[in-house]
Amino acid sequence: MKVIRLRAGKDRSLLRRHPWVFQGSIEKGKADPGETVRVESAEGRFLCWASFSPSSMIRVRAWSFDEAERVDEAFFHGRIAAALALRQRLPIASNAQRLIHGEADGLPGLIVDRYDDTLVAQFLSAGTERWKSLIADQLLAATGLTRLYERSDSGVRQLEGLEPATGWLRGDGNTAVTIAEHEWKLSLDVAEGHKTGYYLDQRDNRKKFAELVRHYGCQSVLNCYSYTGGFSVAALAGGAQQVISVDSSAPALARATAHVALNGFDAERHQALDADVNQTLRDMLKEGRSFDAIVLDPPKFAPTAAHAERAARAYKDINRLGLKLLKPGGLLFTFSCSGGVGPELFHKIVAGAGLDAQVDGFILDRVGASPDHPQTICFPEGEYLKGLLILKR
Ligand code: SAH
Repeated sequence: MKVIRLRAGKDRSLLRRHPWVFQGSIEKGKADPGETVRVESAEGRFLCWASFSPSSMIRVRAWSFDEAERVDEAFFHGRIAAALALRQRLPIASNAQRLIHGEADGLPGLIVDRYDDTLVAQFLSAGTERWKSLIADQLLAATGLTRLYERSDSGVRQLEGLEPATGWLRGDGNTAVTIAEHEWKLSLDVAEGHKTGYYLDQRDNRKKFAELVRHYGCQSVLNCYSYTGGFSVAALAGGAQQVISVDSSAPALARATAHVALNGFDAERHQALDADVNQTLRDMLKEGRSFDAIVLDPPKFAPTAAHAERAARAYKDINRLGLKLLKPGGLLFTFSCSGGVGPELFHKIVAGAGLDAQVDGFILDRVGASPDHPQTICFPEGEYLKGLLILKR
């Protein structure tokens, strides 16, 4: 077993059970991509078993902090079983769920989503890449399913020195799937959609939105960055009469339109707008439009803290425009999925937007990702999605 020796004092984060070691913390030792290594402090004390990634800034990802544990077939079996057991206990109102959420499930670099009878996996680290075949077999054995599609086409693979990889890993057939989320139906294509095909992390926020649209009697709703219209279907289910989905992806919008019909809503109640959100908000303001409720769920403007400043300006801009476009008493459901923008900073940005727009509002709720995207105490980076629910004064 190869040993990775850390520099003096660099054992602190592993001792706190944070699973990453950055390149600069390593004194000596190397291994092949994904090889299991023993990580030790400068004094030679055992810290963790980990996977090594020679070309990544995150050089080491911890598999286990238990010296007695071995990283083998039984290890992955145990981790996968524990993740599935947790999902069984969590309240998840859908046949589409995140089964494995990387670090939070003790499997750094592995994302697995289940869409009805189909599993979709992302192997995002050298460690998970090395164990891919075994993990694929174990996932199917644990779930009793036969189909597993790989979507390892995320940009983060590059940082690990890995090529993109997509296609059926196990099983085959149609990549189109229909899922049942809350009381509505949605479709996706695991081969073509964003990420693994769909944004499961917003599931509970869509439900919340439907309830609030109904409670406040919102008639007109603007769903910005709609993707395939999850929040639009929620708004229609909540009784909204006029819903506009805005996105810059034509295929996503085509699906949003299809989802309106799939759920039995009158097509007249929904409009799909293929456009840039920022420009659309400006145009609508000029035209004197206004809405009872607005959703702002933009893509990740700040992948890391280094991009936070530029991202802050972009978030502030759309929130300022959104707040202005809302009718008094209207609802703003605004999100950031940037890991580099924490909840406090996000609140500050929205406060700045309110000041610029000369609009105040009541914060009704602060929300995060659905529970099948768990956060753990030791891994604060896991808290990426945050949302504020605001009632305009
Ligand atoms: N709210 C969605 C997920 C949004 S993901 C859901 O519940 O499923 C972010 C979306 O923003 C993507 O669909 C992407 O196509 C879109 N997008 C990115 N930049 C955009 C822009 N400048 N204008 C409009 N849409 C944009």
